[in-house]
Amino acid sequence: MTFRLFPPQRRGRGSYIVRMADDAPTDDAARRAADALREIGAAFWREGWSRGTSSNYSIVLRHDPLTMLLTASGKDKGRLGPTDFVVVNGDGRPVEANAKKPSAETALHLVLARRPGVGCVLHTHSIWGTVLSDLYHGDGGFWIEGYEMLKGLDGVTTHEHRQFVEIFQNTQDIPALAREVGRRLDDAADLLRHGFLIRRHGLYTWGRDVDEARRHVEIFEFLFEVVGRRLSLRGAATLTNRKQ
Ligand SMILES: [Zn+2]
Repeated sequence: MTFRLFPPQRRGRGSYIVRMADDAPTDDAARRAADALREIGAAFWREGWSRGTSSNYSIVLRHDPLTMLLTASGKDKGRLGPTDFVVVNGDGRPVEANAKKPSAETALHLVLARRPGVGCVLHTHSIWGTVLSDLYHGDGGFWIEGYEMLKGLDGVTTHEHRQFVEIFQNTQDIPALAREVGRRLDDAADLLRHGFLIRRHGLYTWGRDVDEARRHVEIFEFLFEVVGRRLSLRGAATLTNRKQ
C-alpha cells in the first residue's frame, strides 16, 4: 500500500488530501499526522527548539509493515507546508516514486519506531540541550533528579525519580548512530528510556502517540533549561563570592 501527498485542495487554510497511489480512498490518518506535525513545528519554533531547518518529526502510520510519515529534508520547521512530508517504509525508502527526500536522520526515527509502543518520534535542537550535551559528553550523560516536572515522563510517579540523560557522540554517519542507539534500546539491564541527547546537536524523544512525545519534549526542554540556568547561576554566585 502506498500513499501520495497531494497539493492542497482548498478546504480551509492549510488543508490537503492524502490518497493511496491508486486513488483509493483518502488516507485520513496521514493527513492528520501531517497536520499534527505542522502544528508541532510552529510551536517548537516559537519556543526556540526547532529553528531554521533543524529538527525532524515522525508519526508511525502502521507498525506492520512499518510505515511512517516524517518531515522531508531541509524544511523550515516553523513554516511546514502541507506537502513538506514523506511517507517511508521500514527501510526508510519513500513509498511513492516522486516523493520528497526524507530527513537525513530517518534511520534514527526508524530504530525508535520499530520498538513496540512507539507511535511518534520528535527531535529538537534547543540551546540548553546543545550546551548540556557538550558539557557532559565526557561523562556519558548527566542526572536530573528531584524535580516535580520529571513526573511528565511516562511511568514516572514521583519527583524523587532520577533520570539519566545519555549523550551520544554526533556524527554524519546516521545509520551507525542508529545501530548504537538500537543496542542501547535492547540493553534490558540498563534500558535507554524516554530520550537521549546527541552531542552539540539535540534531543531525541518518543511516545506512544504524538501527545506523549510532545509532552516528553516539553518536559525535557524545561528540565534542560532548569539545569543549565542553575549551573549558570551557581557560576555567577561563585564569581560574586570571589569578589567579596
Ligand atoms: Zn538533528
